[in-house]
Order: sequence, then structure tokens, then C-alpha cells
Amino acid sequence: MKNEVDIASIIDKINAFVNEREWEKYHTPKNLAISMSIEANELLEIFQWENPSFQEIKNDKEKLRNVSHEIADILIYLLRFIYKLDLNLEKIVIEKLRINEEKYPVEKCRGKPDKYFAYSKEKQG
Ligand SMILES: [Mg+2]
Repeated sequence: MKNEVDIASIIDKINAFVNEREWEKYHTPKNLAISMSIEANELLEIFQWENPSFQEIKNDKEKLRNVSHEIADILIYLLRFIYKLDLNLEKIVIEKLRINEEKYPVEKCRGKPDKYFAYSKEKQG
């Protein structure tokens, strides 16, 4: 499924939700970071005692719904962070991908799960 997303429109909807409830004052950097982590842990909780494949999740309507809701919760807080810091989503993702490409050169890390410092040791040795 291809996602065609209007990020600005989604941020506007989130901002309206927050403003109607006068929750702006609670959205400090620390609180948004904590909230994202809590929601990420709610996503983890779904998988606490099982390890379904993507296809198994897609086949289980209730699980797919629960996973979707936790992903949305994480994304909502993430988009609030992006909005509050006036960040350009595309720019920061492209920039970080470029950094990651340097940290994880394809020729050294293809098919390997190691952290980047494992590859710099290879460079030194
Ligand atoms: Mg949640």
C-alpha cells in the first residue's frame, strides 16, 4: 500500500486537537519525548509473549487495529515534536540517512546487524 501523506494537514489536525483541549502547556520537549517512549512501549507490549510475522498481524484484524493505534500514537507525538521545533521532516530524514550511509557502508555491513563501531574497528584493523 502506497501512502500519500499531507504532513502539514495532519499536523494541523493534531494542533487543533491539542488547542481545543488547552494541552499546549503540557507539550514540553521532555514530556513529548517521554510520551513517545511510552507509546513505543505500548506497541512493544502487544508483542510481549509472541513474535508474529507482518502477514500474521495483517490477518488478525484486532491485532492490526491495536498495532495501528500505537503507531499512530507514536507518530502524533513525533509530529508534535517536529512542529514545535519548526523542523522540516524531509530534510531531517534525508540528512540522517546520509549520516547512516556513512556509518554503515554497504560493502561492510550488508546482511550484518552490528552497530556502526564494529565497522570502524574493521577499518582500523
Ligand atoms: Mg497508546
